[in-house]
Amino acid sequence: MAFIKINKQNFYHNLNQIALKTGSVEKIAIVLKDNAYGHGLELMAKLASEFGIKHAVVKKTVEAELIRSLFETVLVLGDTIIKDEVYSFTINTLQDIRQAQKGAKVELKVDTGMHRNGIALDELDEALSLIQAQGLNLIGVMTHYRSADELSSELFWQQKQFETVKQRVKEAGFTGVRVHSHNTAAALRMKSFDEDLVRAGIGVYGYNELPDPFDEVALRPVMSLHAKKVSTRVLRAGERIGYGGDFIAAHEMTVSTYDLGYGDGWSRGDSAQPYITSEDLPVLGRVSMDFISLESEKEEVCVMNDAQVAAKQLGTISYEMTTALTSDILKIVI
Ligand SMILES: *Cc1c(COP(=O)(O)O)cnc(C)c1O
Repeated sequence: MAFIKINKQNFYHNLNQIALKTGSVEKIAIVLKDNAYGHGLELMAKLASEFGIKHAVVKKTVEAELIRSLFETVLVLGDTIIKDEVYSFTINTLQDIRQAQKGAKVELKVDTGMHRNGIALDELDEALSLIQAQGLNLIGVMTHYRSADELSSELFWQQKQFETVKQRVKEAGFTGVRVHSHNTAAALRMKSFDEDLVRAGIGVYGYNELPDPFDEVALRPVMSLHAKKVSTRVLRAGERIGYGGDFIAAHEMTVSTYDLGYGDGWSRGDSAQPYITSEDLPVLGRVSMDFISLESEKEEVCVMNDAQVAAKQLGTISYEMTTALTSDILKIVI
């Protein structure tokens, strides 16, 4: 089967780069949602914990359960709010507060402009008094930026909104509340940092989708994707490969089938504009569910060693390239 190599040194390099921005490793909350962006939830959690990361972020409680013992806190972004020692839960709506289990640790997400999730600014006072009335333990206040990875002043406008949120939470008498708003892009752009955590996702895996003027921090891809040879054959000129016979051999050539396909989460792409692997081999014809064909006889090929480069070829972003890969692909730490 296709397999993924996880480069531990690169992972730690990226964590160090982000720690330079936050001032300490303790202020990084590693985002491990969606199978750690396709890198393997439990594996990346273990490596992060060994590095000294104390805080994690996931989407669901089932994910939190798998990594519970490794972190001091695990923030669950979207699930039923229950009382737990380690887990804290995101409040996205007033309804979430009403339905939460008494004593639960919660982090209030405030909508400062992304208009996707979170309490509206004019609901903030109601939310805070409801949290008290329901006997919830408010341990965090957070927001999420919609344009941290774009050249515009929007980030600063949202940051200003969030400043007033922090102030109002303080005035309402809450203490010991951690504040966090930065994703990778915002963290890489910041010149100074006065919050308690950054929620670092894509950057720890080695990618930075910022436009060039902000691209100062050198991150290194953690994942490379490899496939194994299934069979080899010699084609004569005019013979075709794969479904639809989209590829036609112009001359005699030796081709092999490798065990990666769209069933593994690899993009099917467009055979008219074939994907070119990191070893410079164009994919011949259509991508099948479980196979691709390449002009090679090698036992193993590296299909992708930089998801951002691959994403550019395939018209998407690094996030989608890695997250789409199915969780059952074998991971090897190098
Ligand atoms: C996914 C996510 C992040 C991480 O964003 P990156 O761009 O991958 O760093 C941070 N905060 C929230 C709320 C998220 O959903």
